[in-house]
Amino acid sequence: MSAATTTGNDHLIRPHGGELVDRTGAAPDDLESLETVQLTSRELSDLDMLASGALSPLEGFMGRGDYESVLESMRLANGLPWSLPVCLAVEGPPQGDRVALADESGKPVAVLEVDDVYDYDKEREAELAYRTTDTAHPGVERLFAQRPMYLAGKVTVFERQVPQFAELALDPAGTRSAFAERGWKRVVGFQTRNPIHRAHEYLTKVALETVDGLLIHPLVGDTKSDDVPAATRVECYRVLVDNYYPADRVVVSAFPAAMRYAGPREAIWHAICRKNYGCSHFIVGRDHAGVGSYYGTYDAQLIFDEFEPHEFDIEPMFFEHSFWCKTCGSMASAKTCPHPSDDHVFLSGTKVREMLGNGELPPVEFSRPEVAEVLIDAYRN
Ligand SMILES: [Zn+2]
Repeated sequence: MSAATTTGNDHLIRPHGGELVDRTGAAPDDLESLETVQLTSRELSDLDMLASGALSPLEGFMGRGDYESVLESMRLANGLPWSLPVCLAVEGPPQGDRVALADESGKPVAVLEVDDVYDYDKEREAELAYRTTDTAHPGVERLFAQRPMYLAGKVTVFERQVPQFAELALDPAGTRSAFAERGWKRVVGFQTRNPIHRAHEYLTKVALETVDGLLIHPLVGDTKSDDVPAATRVECYRVLVDNYYPADRVVVSAFPAAMRYAGPREAIWHAICRKNYGCSHFIVGRDHAGVGSYYGTYDAQLIFDEFEPHEFDIEPMFFEHSFWCKTCGSMASAKTCPHPSDDHVFLSGTKVREMLGNGELPPVEFSRPEVAEVLIDAYRN
């Protein structure tokens, strides 16, 4: 148990619900006699986050009460804010009161104590969680492809997922220790699933000016196939941090979640998870966790207004799109720069990809050359 790291005198924010959950444990003696449910990669990443306490206070896959309450009111049945279902889809009710949970190769990694098995309405979940039932939405597509019932219950994980980036693998107890060792109290978390260009470097540094430390927390679970692969992104973060951030103010670690692309509700979920990792602040940019044009530009910021101020403890920090302004001679945003857009260095995503694909460096006002070089190499291979 890692409770000492969360309740000691480290002055860090407390986990969601008060205690960091630890659902790791030993395999049961009767493992071989248990019925086995094989998990999808999204369910496996949720399982691993349940094990580590990243989803505190959840101790397992959600029962009907929590599921309904989360969909209807963005709260667990006990009233605590929670924005997305964390559910395990199965074909039908299991025979026994415990089942083994297996990874994609069929190897058992956890046991679930069966608490509830229930029907769910995919259309309704899509409408409430994703605000759309369009199957072109990657989260909705995955939901509609799921098995028809949800199996709920506490889990005990006896074999953790092998992290994709061992050197970046820190559980919530690990990031909390890292922050405490550095003497940090206020830490801002930055979620990303893209390489960091100047615009994002700017907002992480603006945020860092107001707190003690920065957690760059790239998501390394499943993403859409056209997102930049995690290995390339991780290399970008490494060269950026090595060259442009003070080493004693930044921790880079991997966030093992799978993307749901649920936009506003996922922004809240991302914030709650980062609170468990020890962040007191969380950056929410424009169209956070969005995809296509399903969500309004500011929806992921506005959704926080549906809760009482400070109800999360973790403080969301909202940012505008930022850019280099030639007249200001600095990074800026519409909030801080009065000049016309002709003065701003703007490149569309398509243009940037085209330049990188041709081996050309984008302007230094847009992207650090070290980062662009990593991306050019990735395009060449
Ligand atoms: Zn300006």
